[in-house]
Formats: sequence, structure tokens, C-alpha cells
Amino acid sequence: MRPTVSLAWASLSTSLSPLFFASAVQLLPPPPIPSRFTAAFIQNQTASFPHPKNGTPLVIDTFTDPDRNDLGFWHGPSTSLASEHGNGYVRLYSSDPDQNYHTELGPATCFDMQPYKHMYLHVVFSGSTKFSVSLNQHNQKCDSRRSPFLETWDTVEAERYSRGNDLYVPLAHFDIDQSRTVSVSFHGFFSRETLTLYKVEIVTEIPWGFYIPPKLENGKLYLHCTRPNSFAFGIDDGMPHLVQDVMKILEEEKILVTFFVVGAGLRDKEANFSQVYKEMLRRGHQIALHSDTHQQIEGLDTIKAIDEEIVHNIETFQRLLGIQSRYFRPPYGTVGARTRQRLAAYLKDPRIINWSVDVEDWLWAESKTPERQRDAFFRDVGRGGNLVVMHYLSPTTVQYFREFIRFVKSINVDIMRVDQCLEDPDSPPFDPYRYRQRGRYRVESNRNPEDQQGETG
Ligand SMILES: [Zn+2]
Repeated sequence: MRPTVSLAWASLSTSLSPLFFASAVQLLPPPPIPSRFTAAFIQNQTASFPHPKNGTPLVIDTFTDPDRNDLGFWHGPSTSLASEHGNGYVRLYSSDPDQNYHTELGPATCFDMQPYKHMYLHVVFSGSTKFSVSLNQHNQKCDSRRSPFLETWDTVEAERYSRGNDLYVPLAHFDIDQSRTVSVSFHGFFSRETLTLYKVEIVTEIPWGFYIPPKLENGKLYLHCTRPNSFAFGIDDGMPHLVQDVMKILEEEKILVTFFVVGAGLRDKEANFSQVYKEMLRRGHQIALHSDTHQQIEGLDTIKAIDEEIVHNIETFQRLLGIQSRYFRPPYGTVGARTRQRLAAYLKDPRIINWSVDVEDWLWAESKTPERQRDAFFRDVGRGGNLVVMHYLSPTTVQYFREFIRFVKSINVDIMRVDQCLEDPDSPPFDPYRYRQRGRYRVESNRNPEDQQGETG
């Protein structure tokens, strides 16, 4: 029987909040949904304010109201970002590159930015220029209850586009589906200098002589598998003593996954990870980049420090595994303009892989309630998530892994590597015969997943 995974609308904001309390935070967590909007109103609607004609500037935010921008929609900082709101400005006291401030173009729905495509984003600000500016794209259903809420975003470096107190970015420099824009955001802070925002608007012209730099190549960001009916486990860092258990599950369930592997871990002779991942490669799994020493690399002071994280990871893969990969998962999911640009400086067409299903093992695996990893998995899959982040750092996570796999099989969705689920022409073809084993799944399975082995058809 196919279990239904129901979506608890009321619990959305509370279940998001743990994201803000640990360091392992995905960049740009969805902003809270204003409570006065009902789910029915939000779903599948485009922003309802009158569409300005081509060539009409649009004032998005002058920061006169602490809760609403000039369009009447939500603006605000992520929970951990200290801010001070005055009449006509907001001052941000950032301490972490994951912190962010969003100003929305609709009530968490899709806003069609295409009529503005020849225009410019203009920001009036003072203080730090050490941050990123992003234009955020909604998910395909324009439904803020779905996972991921933001399907992707494109990002520029504030410093390159600013002079004095002005920042102008051609909207064409944001490579997203602009028919589904949801917000403008400020994030990727790599300095503790304050940033004060006075105005965010769309304008038709830039001041005479204002220099607009060329768009730099950068890595494309994915949180969601694109191939229909696909699902991928992206597995990050692990413990050597749990490798055998993970391998056994993968073999028995006949699935292929993607491992995101840190360079320093591979070089650690004691951990023996280079042999482990050579074996994983032999078995057909994808091995992808995860930085050299697992820091929030967007927060590093210098480009040189960011480059070292990327280059040493690439070199270690070549030397110890004999492979190259253009797939990269940023530690903690932290991405900003510099990380994305530097990846593109070393890799052709890099793909940056975040997630739409977070098992939250970093939060619950060692807690008194490890079963909340299960809740997190089913919550995000229920919202449409299909690209997982998990680790094998704790036996409790590994214990739930088989149940996760069996569940996905039971709803007739194909589990595959990340490159396969993103329809990469260079990925090996997905082999449905290998994936022939369809486990059955029962709803009442708060049991040890081992108990379910005998139920396989
Ligand atoms: Zn990691």
C-alpha cells in the first residue's frame, strides 16, 4: 500500500527553525510565510499587484516599514542575522556567510520579471561591499510549501558592481528563469563590517559613465533533480567504521549514489578513505568534490584561500582516485558569488549541488530523538524534495538509510546518482534492470529497518 506523506502546513515555519540553530545550515533558507496568507492563496498564484509596463521603474523597497517592503510583501533577515531597522534603512550586522536578508517580489509566489529583462537592479547602500546579491527563482509550482522553496538562484559579487553608494546589476546578469522570480537577497557576507540598505529598485538606466563589469562565469546551483521520476542520495562526510554498513545497504538495495568527498579526508592514511572511494567508484557510484578542509569557503577572507580549498580537492581526486569531477557540494551548503566564480575558474561548467531533502542528521543523529531524522526525511519528500543531503557519521542515520531507500522504491521513483538525475549527457546511463528490486514499505514502520528485509518482493 502506498503511504501518504501529508504536509503539515501549520508546522512549516516551526520545522524550518532548527535550520538556524546549528552551523550546518543551507544557504538562503526560505523566508517565513506571512501568516495572513492562507495556503490556498499562496499556491499557484502570481503576484497580484499591477504589472508595470515595459520601461516603468519599480521601487521594491525603501525600508520604511519593518515588516513590509514598498510592494507590500515580506522583507527581513534570516533568524541569526542581527539587524536594526530605522526609518528608511536597515542595517545588517553579519557574522556568517549563510546569513541573508530577503525582500520579496510577491507573497512567496512567482513574480514575472521578464518585462524588466533589459533593466537594472539598483541598490543604494553604505558600508561593506563584501557580500553577494542574488535573484531567487521559485520552484516549478510557485508553491512555497514545496521543497525546495527556491529552486535555484544566481549571484553576483557586490564589489564588482558598486561605486560609492550605488550598485547596478543588469537583470540579464542573473541566469535564472525570471518568469519565476521570488525575491532579491543579500548574503555571502565575508566581513563583519556592517551593511546598510536604503533602497532596492528596478530602473531603466544607469548614470552616465557608471561602469558595468562583464558577467563572470559561475557554477550553476541545483537543489532538485530534473529528470522526471528520479531521486538521488547525495552523501557527504562519513566515519570509516560505518563504511561497510553503508556499502552493504547500497549493494543489497542495488542503488547508485553520489558521495561528496573532502580532499583532506582522502589524504588521511589512517581513515583509508582513498581505498573506500576507489571501491565505491569500481561499484559505479559517483564521487564528487566537497572542498579540501570543509570550511564555509564563501566566508574566507581571500580569493587565494577559496582557491586552495577548490584546487587541493581537485588535485587530491586526480592523484588518489584518478578522476575529475565538475560536481561540487559546498560544505554546509554555503554558496556566494566568489565560491561560484572560483569554481568556474578551475572547472568547466561546474555544477553546485545543494539539496531539497535534509535528513537533518547533523541536528538529530546524536540527540535523544534520532527518529526525528526520519520525520525530516518524510517531511521533505512529502513536499516534493528529491535530492538528499545526508552523512554517515552516526549509526542512527545508517540505520534509517535502508528505510529511506525502500520508501522511495515503493512509490516507484528511480534512485540514481546526482549526475544521472540531472540528465548529464556524460553520466552513465541509468540501468533500470540493476534497480529491479522494489521493496515494500509499510506505514507502521517505526521499527528497526532490519525487520523489513524479509518483506522485499
Ligand atoms: Zn560536508
